[in-house]
Amino acid sequence: MGLRKALTIALGKSYSPPIMIGLPFSLPEFVPGQVWLVGAGPGDPGLLSLLAVHALQNCDVLVYDALVDDRILALARPEADKEYAGKRGGKPSALQRDISNRLVELAQEGKRVLRLKGGDPFVFGRGAEEAQVLVKAGVLFRVVPGITSGVGGLAYAGIPATSRECNSAVAFVTGHDATGNVPDSIDWASLAKAVPVLVFYMALKHLDHISSKLIENGRSPDEPAAAVCRASTPSQKVVTATLSTLSNAVKEAGIEPPALIVVGEVVRLREQLDWLSALAKET
Ligand code: SAH
Repeated sequence: MGLRKALTIALGKSYSPPIMIGLPFSLPEFVPGQVWLVGAGPGDPGLLSLLAVHALQNCDVLVYDALVDDRILALARPEADKEYAGKRGGKPSALQRDISNRLVELAQEGKRVLRLKGGDPFVFGRGAEEAQVLVKAGVLFRVVPGITSGVGGLAYAGIPATSRECNSAVAFVTGHDATGNVPDSIDWASLAKAVPVLVFYMALKHLDHISSKLIENGRSPDEPAAAVCRASTPSQKVVTATLSTLSNAVKEAGIEPPALIVVGEVVRLREQLDWLSALAKET
C-alpha cells in the first residue's frame, strides 16, 4: 500500500504531501470564490513557483490547458476536480468564451478555481482575455506568473535569450494569429532590422513563410536558428541550422508542436552551453 493511501485511511481524508511545510513566510490564502490564473512553466515541474504549488494544493477545481505536464497535474490535491480546457486529438479547442464563462460560474459557486496554463498566462496565453471577463463579472482573481517557454524553454536548450556579446534586445513573436495565419500586423521590416534575437511561438506550421519574410527583409540566410520542441520535458528535442535550412531540418527531424523557433547569434552559444546534454553524459 502506498504512503498516500495508508495516510488517507489513517486520517480519514485525502492526504496531500506536505511540500509546502516549513516555509519561513506565509503565502496568500486561496479564498473561495477567487480565480487564480497560474503559469505552470514550460514543462519541468521543478520550474513551478511556490505560489503555483500552493494553488495546486489548495484548489477545489483545476481548469487546465493542453500544454500542462501530467506530472504537474499530479500535484493537485486529490479532491480537486480537474477540467480540461484545451485542444485534444485535432478536435477544435474549447471556445475561449466558454472557458472564461466557466471560470466565472465556478467562482460564483464559491469554488477556489485554479486556471492553469502552460508557460506564463500573460504571454500568448489568453490570460488577459480571461482576466477581463473575470473583472466584468466582479470575480476577484490573482495572477501567478510562470516561466515562459520562450525564456525557460530556450534555457533548457542551452540558448540564452540574451547575451551581452550578441544582443541587447529580444522579441517574442507569435507565428499565427487567431485565424491561424501568420499575423498581418507584424512589421517584418522593422522586426528584421531592429531585433537581433527573435523567438517565435506557435510558428512551426508557417516556418517557411516566416524564414522567407525575414530573409526578404534583410536577415542573412546563414544566420543561426534553432527549433526547440517540448522544452524542459523528458522528450525535449533541439535542432540547430540556419535561417534558410531550418525548415527542412525540422521536417527531417520530425519536430512537432509545441516548439519554439529562435533566430539569432545566441543560438551559437548552445555549442558551449548545452548543460542538459553535458549533465546527461555525466550520469
Ligand atoms: N503561455 C505559453 C505560450 C502558449 S502558446 C508560454 O508562456 O510559454 C503555445 C506555444 O508555446 C507553443 O506552440 C510553443 O511555441 C510554445 N511552447 C509552450 N511550451 C513549450 C515547450 N515546453 N517547448 C517548446 N515550446 C513550447
